[in-house]
This record gives sequence, structure tokens and C-alpha cells, in this order.
Amino acid sequence: MRRHGKLEYGGHAGPQRTCVGCRVRTAKSELLHLVRVEDQVVPDLRGRLPGRGASLHPSLSCLELAERRRAFPRAFRVPGPLDMSPVRAHLEGEPRNVM
Ligand SMILES: [Zn+2]
Repeated sequence: MRRHGKLEYGGHAGPQRTCVGCRVRTAKSELLHLVRVEDQVVPDLRGRLPGRGASLHPSLSCLELAERRRAFPRAFRVPGPLDMSPVRAHLEGEPRNVM
């Protein structure tokens, strides 16, 4: 087992997480890690922010699924709605630019 670099699919040792949107278990390295900062959810791009995290496929459809299911307040154990705009902005900014 290598200590650095990405594990390939098919390996049995790679850590997996469940996407809070579509609930599909996926290699952790394929998912966007999200953390809550006060009442906002932000992408934890360096994997360094403290606190409870959630994992999401880096796709708007999974974000929308998660919002519809109110998965984020549950994942972060807060009663109220959370501001997902930093995550949305990240997802909208990153994929191929169609404009
Ligand atoms: Zn997903």
C-alpha cells in the first residue's frame, strides 16, 4: 500500500465515504469534503478545516439532491437551514465553462 498518491478504483483498502446527495459510497478522494462554518457550508479544499464534515460528489445535481433531502442540517447536526452558497459557487465555477 502506498502512503501517498491516489488509490485506484478496485483497491479494497481505500477509504470510502457516502455522498450526502445521492447516498452512493465512493472513494473519499473522489468526493468534495464539506465543513460547516457557523451557518455556512464551505468546501474544505485542503482537508484542513476543523469540525464535522460531510462528503459530496462535486456535482450540482448531488448538491441539489442533498438540499432537497435536507441532508446537510442532519449531517452537521444543526436544527436550521444552512447557507450552501459557497459550495454552489465552487461547483458552478469549477466544471467546464459554458459561457
Ligand atoms: Zn452524489
